[in-house]
Amino acid sequence: MLKEKVCNYIDEIKDLLFEVSKEIHENPELNFEEYKASKLLAKKLEEANFKVKLGVADLETAIYAQHPNITEGKTVAILAEYDALPEIGHGCGHNLIATASLGASLALGKFKEEIPGKLIFMGTPAEEGGGGKIFMIEAGLFKDVDAAMMFHPSATLNMAGRGGLAVTTVRMEFFGKTAHASSEPEKGINALDGVVQAYNAISALRQHITSDARIHGVITDGGVKPNIVPDYAAAIYYVRALDDNYCQELVQKVHNCAKGAALSTGSELKFEIVGHSYKSRNVNKTLGNAFLENLKSLGVPIHPIPVGKGLGSSDIGNVSHEVPTIHPYLGISEKEINGHSRDFAKAAISEYGYKQMLNAAKALAMTAIDVFTDEKLVAEMNKEFQETRTK
Ligand SMILES: [Zn+2]
Repeated sequence: MLKEKVCNYIDEIKDLLFEVSKEIHENPELNFEEYKASKLLAKKLEEANFKVKLGVADLETAIYAQHPNITEGKTVAILAEYDALPEIGHGCGHNLIATASLGASLALGKFKEEIPGKLIFMGTPAEEGGGGKIFMIEAGLFKDVDAAMMFHPSATLNMAGRGGLAVTTVRMEFFGKTAHASSEPEKGINALDGVVQAYNAISALRQHITSDARIHGVITDGGVKPNIVPDYAAAIYYVRALDDNYCQELVQKVHNCAKGAALSTGSELKFEIVGHSYKSRNVNKTLGNAFLENLKSLGVPIHPIPVGKGLGSSDIGNVSHEVPTIHPYLGISEKEINGHSRDFAKAAISEYGYKQMLNAAKALAMTAIDVFTDEKLVAEMNKEFQETRTK
């Protein structure tokens, strides 16, 4: 059976996958600077005869690698992340994402003659805030994709179908007028007061938003010396919600808080959205269930999605409104650990973490085979996608 052959091949190349995973882990690279990781992945794909483009969508570290054996059928994109976090390195375990996707792609490539369709490995930089996938969507790289898939490490839970929040980053800057803070304070306009009043107004707003939403910010500039009335102050906020439209409504409300603060202090306000907004996560349940079935066939236990727990945000959200997408989780630790932590980074090179990475690679490859070969599943997947996507 094809699925069995593909899984056996992933076991055969496990040392290669461990090595690549370890090397990426030992050389953590931040947003858009993943030069070593992207080069290493591109090299491994090239060695397996993939047609590799390193540097696409104006991103030097993005990869678009296509298996040359193309036959009539569906197009499956297997996505890889490989960026790290400042100070804690691979505290989100993206080294395991990269090699699970590499393993799945190499195994599918190995037996491509037996599988109809088009296979693409997409290396997507800067998940941690840079939104590499959004650049790749805008470059049209997802236009012909029928299904996109990747796995993400979790602490302990194996699950599919967990959502994510839309997030928009805003910057507010207040411009005032300097004056001697003691001898002539009446001549100054205090920009810091603008930021502080906006901060307090937003804190009051927080009581009156839905419980899924999150508004959290930091003051980045607050003046230079107490005896100078600050003429410049600024803050950055993340505004998040489950619903994309509600997220934008909250951005407006945050803007109003800032406007009110500017009016009451007499300062000038500059309010802007920073970078790309991440959309909510529209994970495809039909395809997610196929992934879980494949995972079960490997003897991996499945856990329910915890209810009432906080959610994060990812640029996979934007992909999930473009094409049917899955972003399932596999636990990489046997005991509870925090996400974005040094413990998580340690788990990302642990024996158990590697074992789960291999399971993820196998389940991804098997789910891709489902998309290539199971018309009924694809029809259901597409129906769900049309009903759930927002444009
Ligand atoms: Zn992550």
